[in-house]
Amino acid sequence: MFYDLHIHSALSPCGDDSMTINNIINMAMIKELDLIAITDHNSLKQQTYLKQISHDKVQIIYGVELQTREEIHVLGYFREENRLPDMQKWIDQHLQVILNKPEFFGNQLIFNQNDEVISHEERLLLSSLDTSLEETVDAIHQHHGIVVLAHVLDKRYSVFENLGFIPPDLEIEGIEVKSDEQIDIVKKRTPYLKNIPFFRNSDAHQLIDISEPIHSMTQTQFEELWR
Ligand SMILES: [Zn+2]
Ligand SMILES: [Zn+2]
Repeated sequence: MFYDLHIHSALSPCGDDSMTINNIINMAMIKELDLIAITDHNSLKQQTYLKQISHDKVQIIYGVELQTREEIHVLGYFREENRLPDMQKWIDQHLQVILNKPEFFGNQLIFNQNDEVISHEERLLLSSLDTSLEETVDAIHQHHGIVVLAHVLDKRYSVFENLGFIPPDLEIEGIEVKSDEQIDIVKKRTPYLKNIPFFRNSDAHQLIDISEPIHSMTQTQFEELWR
């Protein structure tokens, strides 16, 4: 299964306004991806209508990219739609209340299944939650989600940059990297993490950047993530 599990819609202020949910799914089909997730910053509000878009080629899991108090980006994925409202409530309780300035940060658009803008997120989604990395990871698990640490070797918003290491007792299901070289680096730095899956995603903010069909996992590997 070719996947891209880190894509921002126009709900993320940094996401291009053309990143509507239909455009993202159509581009994923053009690129012949089998599995995608839309992972907006600190919000699951773009996930609501995903299921109602008719498509038979691309499997979609629900996703979010949370920013912890330490300014570490954490990807959370969910398969059960009925867990999303509670998870969103948890995010709402912990996201710092700063109003978005669209002309400065960008629009935060929420679409329906026809790509009509049905609302705007008023709060700036680029700020941090008031929860620690560990608390954030716990919350995702409590809502039956799985956790992948995002772009772990990036200079900004990454666990290695902001914490210096991956805590050995942190329960995570995967690690996102940008290259094969980064996999070697992370393995050397984390000998205590055995058989942890590595993911390569686009972190696309515009349609053209959505992954080509390069990075893949088997259906069995995908199912093992949810055990
Ligand atoms: Zn990020
Ligand atoms: Zn991202």
